[in-house]
Amino acid sequence: MIELPSTIINKLAIKLNATAEGLIKKGHPWVFSNSIIKQNKEGKVGDIAVIFDGKKNKFLACGFYDPQSPIRVKILQTNKPAAINAAWFANKVNEALEKRLPLLQTETNSYRLIFGENDGLPSIIADVYNNVLVVKLYATFWFYHLKDILPSIIQASGAATSVLRLSRNVQKESNEFNFKDGQILDGTLNNEVVIFKEHNIQFSANVIKGHKTGYFLDQRANRKRVGEMAKGKTVLDVFSYAGGFSIHALVGGANAVTSLDISKQALHLAKSNATLNYFTGRHDTICGDAFEELNKLAKASIKFDIVVIDPPSFAKSAAELDKALVSYKKLTYLGIQLVEKKGILVLSSCSSRVSSIVFFNLVEAVLKKNRINYSIIEKTLHDTDHPIGFKEGAYLKCIYVQLN
Ligand code: SAH
Repeated sequence: MIELPSTIINKLAIKLNATAEGLIKKGHPWVFSNSIIKQNKEGKVGDIAVIFDGKKNKFLACGFYDPQSPIRVKILQTNKPAAINAAWFANKVNEALEKRLPLLQTETNSYRLIFGENDGLPSIIADVYNNVLVVKLYATFWFYHLKDILPSIIQASGAATSVLRLSRNVQKESNEFNFKDGQILDGTLNNEVVIFKEHNIQFSANVIKGHKTGYFLDQRANRKRVGEMAKGKTVLDVFSYAGGFSIHALVGGANAVTSLDISKQALHLAKSNATLNYFTGRHDTICGDAFEELNKLAKASIKFDIVVIDPPSFAKSAAELDKALVSYKKLTYLGIQLVEKKGILVLSSCSSRVSSIVFFNLVEAVLKKNRINYSIIEKTLHDTDHPIGFKEGAYLKCIYVQLN
């Protein structure tokens, strides 16, 4: 392992307004700067802020202090005081690993070991691809605590190699330790493209240059379901990226699968991932904007037994919410046009600002408005390795509609 910085961590004491205090007591993981009403000294990034109860002056919670962020404190521990050290992190990491054990009993060696706030470890993601661990940091305060947490993440993952990835925001901020996106933290990386298994289907991820940590692990369970439904069917995989749904469908025995994405590289990746597996069906690709291409297919009266639509997050900010809802409606409508009689439409949303209830109702409203005779096969939320630890942590939902 490279030598990680060891610095003195200071503590500071703060008090919050009553509303924020109430939220923290309920387990909310963020303290916004405007809810701090008292602070004993100026803090610097990486310090531990200790929150005291406004009236009783007793310990309420503690967390990472970040003077540059409107989310000034990200909570680590509530109710009982604790020293935030290697032993504390080891305990958290082991709790996270414990939750993933059922998934690791399957033919899967790619999983999210740590999912930020949802695992009580704010602003850090740890994804495992076979024997490579990718640690992605979304806040610079982790530079000061990496020394204490990294050994337990490496141990829990059993990985031979560990790679550091930094979010765009973290990359923008200079850091005194010279941490770099794509840096190797432990072991050696012979090939930045790592091959891994997802329910016995082979995929690859570029752990240095790929989006996020190289691959989207969150849709694993839905991909498996689609694979199980695909035997003898034709499938359209819209927003296919690296071919997650497509390849599960092909290996599941689909006659023909079409992957559609706006990105040529993504389709290239889908094609090359497909070659890692054995199947006999046809694999086609369409490169273009989903809305336009789906329209074209509908106009040409081309239909598929299964249509999967898994778009990127449309509502990255509150202002985009209305537009996002319109996009989901359009995609549902287009999807309906493209599904064969008795076929299945699978629609997913990863916008955390759109709740599962709103999304499911929206899809059903479009079906009803178009007088479609349908039944809901299933509605799904998060997979085992993406636990939901707080309201804002819930983002993924998927609905399976059978058109009659
Ligand atoms: N279904 C994928 C994940 C989708 S990620 C999986 O299972 O892994 C979102 C994908 O949508 C990206 O590959 C991106 O290139 C693509 N995309 C974004 N906007 C698009 C558009 N307007 N039309 C088609 N594809 C688009």
